[in-house]
Parts: sequence; structure tokens; C-alpha cells
Amino acid sequence: MRKNIVAGNWKMNNDLAETQELISHLKLQMVKEPTAKVYVAPSFVNLYNTFQSLKGTVVNVAAQNMHYAENGAYTGEVSAKMLKSIGVNTVILGHSERRALFNETDELLAKKVNAALENDMEIIFCFGEELKDRKSDKHFEVVKEQLENGLFHVEKDAWKNIVLAYEPVWAIGTGETASPEQAQEMHKYVRSLVTDKFGKDIAQDVSILYGGSVKPNNAAEIFEKEDVDGGLIGGASLKAIDFLNIVNSFS
Ligand code: 13P
Repeated sequence: MRKNIVAGNWKMNNDLAETQELISHLKLQMVKEPTAKVYVAPSFVNLYNTFQSLKGTVVNVAAQNMHYAENGAYTGEVSAKMLKSIGVNTVILGHSERRALFNETDELLAKKVNAALENDMEIIFCFGEELKDRKSDKHFEVVKEQLENGLFHVEKDAWKNIVLAYEPVWAIGTGETASPEQAQEMHKYVRSLVTDKFGKDIAQDVSILYGGSVKPNNAAEIFEKEDVDGGLIGGASLKAIDFLNIVNSFS
């Protein structure tokens, strides 16, 4: 059975003090048994202290990115081995901001996917079309290509470590969400792609999250769609009360 998941992507927000404050609110207000598996993804500098502070709670910690190499002359980069050494076993890969602002290609992402899997890490793999793709009715094609080129080379066994996150670029940070129907339509399509390539069991088990302007007031109607298994939350994850309301949006 696939899991409900809500992950907060803090992006490049929160200094040390702000991070600690947010964590203390999360700890105070988080219910003992949320209806979703919960993650937060702080910046690299705050990963270690976040992980330490949330140890023993229901909140899991993910990195926002990593390099594919194990170590070496890659100034400014962080490896899977480093993440694992501080207890972080999950990484977000393929976020549209990494793709658009830092030129991450499908080929590069495929290498990162391999490195994460070799290190037995869990991957939250993001994909999604831009507004121009949707306007020209190419959104299915674009998503298919991103998945086929960046992820679908993995072995069947890898899927136990993979969570998918559909994030239409036009809905990120814009206040404009995909409608629940648009999300469902794409998630169903993605599940059909996984079925075709890896079989029904894997497709039924993989959690597919929606990301893009999810807020406390729209989360429930999106999450109740059959193929939407939770959300990847940006802006609304920076406020504990909003994030926790989203976490508790499953019926
Ligand atoms: P917003 O929730 O701020 O639109 O961001 C979504 C996102 O990019 C999560 O990774």
C-alpha cells in the first residue's frame, strides 16, 4: 500500500535561528500519529542541526540536492556519503528550480539518481512542465521525457526507495495551483507510465506527490484525489501552523 506523504521544501529560507524556531513550533504542535509521513528539507547548513533536533519525532529530514560523485574536487557540492554520515537518508532530486536556475539536465539527474540508490538513499524525484508546455498541450510529453530520461533507467527493486513529485512549474510560488482535476489527470498518467515500464504492483505502490501553491485551504481537495498521495510544500511549509494543517488534510 502506498503511503501518504507531506514534505516541506524550505528552499533557501531560514537562517539558524529561524530554523530552530520553526522546528520548535513543529515539535510542539505536531500530532503523535499524523495521517501522512512527514519530511522537512532544510538548506545544507541547517541539515545537521535539524536532523539532531527532530531525532525521535515523526518528522523526517531530507536534503534538497546532492552531487553524484562520492567525493573529490567539486567545490561547493555535497555527496550522498556526507548526507548519510549525518543521518540524512532522503534527497530531493530534479526540483524545477535546480533544473531551470542551475542547469540540471535529465542526464545529470540520472547520475544523481544512481548515486543516491547506490547509497541506499530514498529519492523524492521532481518533474513538471512549464506554462508554455501546458499552453501548447505538451505537458504529458514533457513529463514523460523527464521521467524516461532521468529516472526510468532504474531497476525494479529501486522503486521501494522512490517517491515521485509532480510540480507544474507554473504553479510553484505563484499562488496558482493546478486544479485537483489537473493534478489527478497528470498523476494518473504518470502512474500509467510506471505501470507500462515497471508493472502494476510498483505503480500502485509508488507515492505521487503534488507540489505547487499547496496551502491549508486547498490541500484537502487535492489530496483526496485517487492518484494524489500527498504534497511537496514550499511557501506554506515555512509556517508551522500552515504546514501542520496541510499534514492533517487527509481524510
Ligand atoms: P510553493 O508551495 O511555494 O508553490 O512551492 C512548491 C515547491 O516548489 C515545493 O518543492
